[in-house]
Amino acid sequence: MKVTVFGTGYVGLVQGAVLADVGHEVLCVDVDEAKVQALRAGRIPIYEPGLQPLVADNAALGRLRFTTDAAEGVRHAEVLFLAVGTPPGEDGSADLRHVLAVARTVAQHMDKPLCIVNKSTVPVGTADRVAATVREGLAARGLELEFNVVSNPEFLKEGAAVADCQRPDRIVIGTDSARAERQLRELYAPFNRNRDKLLVMDVRSAELTKYAANAMLATKISFMNEMANLAEQLGADIEAVRQGIGSDPRIGYHFIYPGAGYGGSCFPKDVQALIHTAHSVGLRPVVLEAVEQRNAAQQRVLFERIRAHYEGQLQGKVIALWGLAFKPNTDDMRAAPSRTLMEALWVAGASVQAHDPVAMEEARRLYGERPDLRLCASPLQALEGADALAIVTEWKAFRVPDFARMAELLRDRAVFDGRNLYPPELPARYGLHYVSIGRPVPA
Ligand code: NAD
Repeated sequence: MKVTVFGTGYVGLVQGAVLADVGHEVLCVDVDEAKVQALRAGRIPIYEPGLQPLVADNAALGRLRFTTDAAEGVRHAEVLFLAVGTPPGEDGSADLRHVLAVARTVAQHMDKPLCIVNKSTVPVGTADRVAATVREGLAARGLELEFNVVSNPEFLKEGAAVADCQRPDRIVIGTDSARAERQLRELYAPFNRNRDKLLVMDVRSAELTKYAANAMLATKISFMNEMANLAEQLGADIEAVRQGIGSDPRIGYHFIYPGAGYGGSCFPKDVQALIHTAHSVGLRPVVLEAVEQRNAAQQRVLFERIRAHYEGQLQGKVIALWGLAFKPNTDDMRAAPSRTLMEALWVAGASVQAHDPVAMEEARRLYGERPDLRLCASPLQALEGADALAIVTEWKAFRVPDFARMAELLRDRAVFDGRNLYPPELPARYGLHYVSIGRPVPA
């Protein structure tokens, strides 16, 4: 099928490449000229395992193309995906500027019936707004063309996006149009062989499904962080508690790791947007509000511990940081706990020496050159001349470190682990003062 994808970010680019890989003719459109030029030259602007060869192979076969020409994009499409960003607005609501801009563009250039599929995460009711925008635009051109606006939320995980798109758990389709359902069944048939993964529902339910999924996952994390704080005060070990509750299949082991708070481009903004939606219909979403509050506090936990360790005197301290990305296997630093920590350390007068396997370029782009941030080529280099270490992202490269060397390099031999990477007695054996989340500090 002829597919156009508007937006070549984490979602659009992966979706486009995966659809091209099964034989669809995909044209990706982005307003960012530098990005499109890079993609045409075979450079992938984001880090996502497996994406580079997928894009290169399909581009070479002519099945995956990139353009900034929106008119060409609209005319190419039988199915047109919206995968543009929906960042948080100032009041926490989802900013639909990019989604509605694409809707206007579609109306301007459409010349035949079209299936418009929204993959961006958008509040309930957005499909109706997109449809109204397209209808108005067509009316202004004196046209009446058939089109559908379908909600098809995306559930991929950054860091495993290609695999998630190639083997989705479920494909949620929100539509009441039999024709649109047929088109999407055909489009997704190559991903739907093992069992029927298509869950067809009304548009509003599909839109809400995405928010409910992210809010549930965020809730699990905030719940565990609350238990971790309790465990600390009560002299219990949250890791033992985690195993103890995870063994109940009704709870399960997934997504119940305590830590330095959730981040990334989705959970924080989606929880906020859902809170905003609830308020807009006169509901007080007390659970969601608590989830968000717990996370905001949790993102500051490492800083508070470091500050307490230095009795509030952080001026001139050098803190090493392992991990900048909001989670492993991505370079995404949107709303990352590392940023909350670094920014708090800078305000307190400390400087940071950071290492991340892939996100250092992103850190440079976000913060530029500044005297209180040094980006270091290796985990151990980040410790040279540092007083203490904070671990923020659970990259594999940090899992089995050279504790003896760490104890030599760190002036104060203090390690603040926001991801509980080691059994506490292990670093302690090398003379390191090891503080983690929800576990007793070894004597
Ligand atoms: P992103 O910021 O990485 O990419 C968005 C892209 O859209 C950018 O390249 C931007 O230049 C482009 N764009 C903006 N306006 C445009 C326009 N008018 N025409 C063409 N391109 C335009 O965003 P993302 O992380 O890919 O997320 C996209 C959407 O998918 C969001 O709604 C997000 O909530 C949702 N989502 C993201 C993930 C994730 O893990 N990143 C997972 C599921 C859903």
